[in-house]
Amino acid sequence: MVNPLKTGATLRHVRELIAAGLARPEEGPALEAVAERYATAIPPAFQALIESPDDPIGRQVIPALSELDIAPHEQADPIGDDALSPVPGIVHRYADRALLKPLLICPLYCRFCFRREHVGPDGGLLTDDQLETAYAWLRDNPAIREVILTGGDPLMLSPRRLGAIMRALSDIAHIETIRIHTRVPVAAPERMTPALLDAMETDRAMWLVMHANHAREFSPEARHAIRAVQARAIPVLGQSVLLRGVNDTPDALEALLRAMVSARVKPYYLHQLDPAPGTASFHVPIAEGRALLANLRGRVTGLAWPTYVLDIPGGHGKVPLGPDYLDETAATVRDPAGTRRHLNGQPA
Ligand SMILES: *Cc1c(COP(=O)(O)O)cnc(C)c1O
Ligand code: SF4
Repeated sequence: MVNPLKTGATLRHVRELIAAGLARPEEGPALEAVAERYATAIPPAFQALIESPDDPIGRQVIPALSELDIAPHEQADPIGDDALSPVPGIVHRYADRALLKPLLICPLYCRFCFRREHVGPDGGLLTDDQLETAYAWLRDNPAIREVILTGGDPLMLSPRRLGAIMRALSDIAHIETIRIHTRVPVAAPERMTPALLDAMETDRAMWLVMHANHAREFSPEARHAIRAVQARAIPVLGQSVLLRGVNDTPDALEALLRAMVSARVKPYYLHQLDPAPGTASFHVPIAEGRALLANLRGRVTGLAWPTYVLDIPGGHGKVPLGPDYLDETAATVRDPAGTRRHLNGQPA
């Protein structure tokens, strides 16, 4: 068992990881090569949860030598965001909604991140001019009813900047819904201050989707931060990535989804891993993912059931991956225990 240094600082350098017992000194030089390529940050809240470097928390954030093995099918932009960007910071794939990425900074850097070639600490804060251009694009596209603030992590913005963005979006008449995608509640719960919560105020429908992959991420501090969001009448949904060595067992997945429900967080998406460079050690085959979900059916409250989704490589959109219950001829369905049942003549 490793005792991370409780320095209160975010670990960003290989030498700090070694000093904290999270990396082996003999791997230092090779890990430097990884760290040069992909940003690293382990904030105190996450550090405190790591019991050993290869546990489900450590695996998510500690750089590994395997990240330099790039498989032929892995892509720098696995879901085709770049091709779908009409102006800087906007990604538009679906008719009724668009992403707005005001910055590319995150509270921590997931080793499996689908945007790992883009995110980083010195990164990608849209300038005021670029933000104005993005707002103008949104104003010119009245079919857009929903703006999804993502990045990077929008809750890494200062309350002042986030508040300005929320006001600008709330001034566009056809925007009905604003959604924030964030890892801050579990990764840096101390950021969820009254000032940041004030900045999220809007008269539009406001939803927060938090990213967490293991039950242990729901620390008392994280739960407190989530509760503070909910207290502002903002519904909180959960999204997770299915990850080898993190949540790929029936017990780990069940514990994660139950931790969400117990924090009043509705599991929304369980993502199939996107093939970003150097992430193969996290891959779980789709058949295994479907079996994991089937294992929960009927046994675990329906509130805990996420939609298992694949973002089709190349920017073709997200689709559910099952498991399927109806057979192809629609004559039978599988019951939760896996037994085929006839529909008894009921039209399907
Ligand atoms: C994932 C994604 C969305 C949001 O999709 P939902 O299914 O509504 O959660 C929107 N735009 C882009 C480009 C996306 O990748
Ligand atoms: S928080 Fe999201 S965007 Fe940031 S590194 Fe993790 S997966 Fe990538």
